[in-house]
Amino acid sequence: MDYPSRVLAKAVEEISGLPGIGKKSALRLALHLLKQPQSQALTLGDSLKKLVTEIQYCADCHNFSDSEICEICSNPKRNPEILCVVEDVRDVMAIENTGKFRGKYLVLGGKISPMEGIGPNQLNISSIEKKLAAGEIKELIFALSATMEGDTTAYYIYRKFKNADVNFSTIARGISVGDELEYADEISLGRSIQNRLPYNEKD
Ligand SMILES: [Zn+2]
Repeated sequence: MDYPSRVLAKAVEEISGLPGIGKKSALRLALHLLKQPQSQALTLGDSLKKLVTEIQYCADCHNFSDSEICEICSNPKRNPEILCVVEDVRDVMAIENTGKFRGKYLVLGGKISPMEGIGPNQLNISSIEKKLAAGEIKELIFALSATMEGDTTAYYIYRKFKNADVNFSTIARGISVGDELEYADEISLGRSIQNRLPYNEKD
């Protein structure tokens, strides 16, 4: 496509480099920004700059943080004895959104995947070791994907630390809320039966 301005062409090129955005959408967004008050686009630009220069990883759990230690790790109301191991920062956000967990997290930064060339050394497993060595953790919860890679990762960590003085647990897997039983896949349904919970009228 021919653009009447090189600056516009460059902006479209940059915006279309984002996932899920083609050249047409990128042009629409660029034109939208040009129609807005200048301050709005400048605020967006400033926010993007801060996003990539100011966000850091929490030194304790590897969650995103605005300071060296994240808000969850530095919150004295969170239970330091329960550690929830997740793959990704998005998983922390998803669990936090439920409002049901008051322990702390450890973000692995991925999962063991030979297909993608990701081995245990590329994950933050040494941070688990440090935490276990400090002796504060009583329960380690695996909140990993119900996939081969997720299972492999949990098994690897379990094998590595099974002699530590800690209880291992995994999030219950099975039928999602709102799922019709007949449409559930066999593995989920099978796990739901195996991991059945005591019936509680409040749930
Ligand atoms: Zn943290």
